[in-house]
Amino acid sequence: MPSIQLQGKIFLRGTINALTGLHIGGNSGELDIGGIDNPVIRNAFNRQPYIPGSSLRGKMRGLLDRHFNNSLDKRVGRDVRVHECQTPTDYNGCPVCQVFGVAPIRQLSGKTMPTRLIVRDTFLTAKSIEALDIADTDTDFTEIKTEVAIDRITSAATPRQQERVPAGTTFGPFQVVHSLYTLDESEQNNQLQDELQFFDTVLTGMELLEDDYLGGSGSRGSGQIIFDNLTLTFKSRECYEKADMPPITIAENANIKTLRQSNYTEKILNAINVPS
Ligand SMILES: [Zn+2]
Repeated sequence: MPSIQLQGKIFLRGTINALTGLHIGGNSGELDIGGIDNPVIRNAFNRQPYIPGSSLRGKMRGLLDRHFNNSLDKRVGRDVRVHECQTPTDYNGCPVCQVFGVAPIRQLSGKTMPTRLIVRDTFLTAKSIEALDIADTDTDFTEIKTEVAIDRITSAATPRQQERVPAGTTFGPFQVVHSLYTLDESEQNNQLQDELQFFDTVLTGMELLEDDYLGGSGSRGSGQIIFDNLTLTFKSRECYEKADMPPITIAENANIKTLRQSNYTEKILNAINVPS
């Protein structure tokens, strides 16, 4: 296999605004007796709720699999079916596996690129920590939502509880890091176009997520989020070589839609000094 060269990294930062209550499930095993049934995930040090990068990434990947009509042919444990390409031909034609990566099975050994996408954990903004401190909620930084299950014959009601981060909470900055790779000098320009197309797949995943939900109980109102105040920067290979060379700001104050409609690909290609 030819050598893989890193041409640079795209950094997307911004805030995640919870437009409705957000429930990303934590571990009820760590709760005291008398605790609630469906807790949210929290940072063990300060007990503040956060958004794990794995939750964002997993949801984006699942929505993109559906968008591209990918086959769900891999089993995780007994009950979970996911998509992961099993052959080099499938992998080469699959933007989702190219972006999110595949397990290193034997058939693919030496025939895949490194995983391009990293999604970091996102914590509460200082503003939201302050606001939630002041707010008179049931629990630290969260609310308890009680829903009622109605027996369809007797109409008997059984309440159930769920912990949520309240609507209006902001998390940030989130950070998505996307690497651009090339294999062969002579084909570099075409490859970079493809690489940037992969980043557009990431943005598509984020757009699909805005129109879907994050965490649990989405069909019952929870988990509507938007990505806002987006800043896109690019750190070329040269930035890592020369300590005094700053990353280039490609876009500021954007949302997913305005970013996708902008000429960010051209600006990144110019930054790598390849005529587009
Ligand atoms: Zn695939």
